[in-house]
Amino acid sequence: MKAMVLKEIGSMEKNKTPLRPMDLPIPEPGDKEVLVRISRCGVCHTELDEIEGRTPPSRLPVILGHQVVGRVEKEGARATHFKPGERVGVGWIYSACGTCKFCREGDENLCPEFRATGRDVNGGYAQYMTVSEDFAYRIPPIFSDSEAAPLLCAGAVGYRSLRLTGLKDGQKLGLTGFGASAHLVLKMAHHRFPNSRIFVFARSEKERAFAQDLGAAWAGDPSENPPDKLDCIIDTTPAWKPIVEALKNLQPGGRLVINAIRKEEGDKEVLRQMDYPLHLWLEKEIRSVANVARRDVKEFLDLAAQIPIKPEVQEFALEGANQALVEMKERKVRGAKVLRID
Ligand SMILES: [Zn+2]
Ligand SMILES: [Zn+2]
Repeated sequence: MKAMVLKEIGSMEKNKTPLRPMDLPIPEPGDKEVLVRISRCGVCHTELDEIEGRTPPSRLPVILGHQVVGRVEKEGARATHFKPGERVGVGWIYSACGTCKFCREGDENLCPEFRATGRDVNGGYAQYMTVSEDFAYRIPPIFSDSEAAPLLCAGAVGYRSLRLTGLKDGQKLGLTGFGASAHLVLKMAHHRFPNSRIFVFARSEKERAFAQDLGAAWAGDPSENPPDKLDCIIDTTPAWKPIVEALKNLQPGGRLVINAIRKEEGDKEVLRQMDYPLHLWLEKEIRSVANVARRDVKEFLDLAAQIPIKPEVQEFALEGANQALVEMKERKVRGAKVLRID
């Protein structure tokens, strides 16, 4: 099968083609696994973190990609959930132990044995992959393969971060950064909390205009003061400064949810400007979001079909994966990037 393979970690400034096209054997599904013939795989910012070593793969070489849509080609000997030909999706969570306290409570995203698709095991930048039938999802028919792919990560983790804010209808929500995940959160928040006003902080003029098109009550630069203090803010930026700014903009008792797998080191110094009374006092909270649990993916797919949420996508050939990653790194083009594989 054709695959785009990562062999070593390194800066994408120096190497703009970190993935190599290779021809590899088609994997065999284990007993409780399915073999998926892949149709589309979304390209995620986390792939840059893997390639550049901020969340390095636990094995190399590895096939990246964790927003996978395809059809079941073959079932393992004891797999029973899906029929051959059924459409399935695979997200960031590839497996967890199933027995620890976190797994038992449905928080398998926190399991010490959590394994990520396309980082700890081969993922979707290829024609085929295998996955446990317990970690594959049916996709509502309303979505095309391309539309479904980005929902599997940006959408599901956005759903989890909105849940972790604890927002109630009528409360004010802020979003710092306005990429793939945040624009889906805005649509979800409008649907679930129709009386809540949403405030968007983004550096780019284009992103601010996009936010207002989607119904944000206000959009400004991260250094601007919004007209009101906010109850909850979700941060999806790779930097530290927006966190300090966001804490200042919270109401007493407000909560900042940081939806980022890693922060870049560049502006970390700004944390020294943190002033306890201005940024933290009055019972402000900070919470991070880690990975996704299966219920986030399932609940989000159902919600997205109901609203409906259909992401804007830009397709690349599998061989164009490096190009898609470079464009993502350079923050070019709005909407989600998806590899077309079949
Ligand atoms: Zn992702
Ligand atoms: Zn566990």
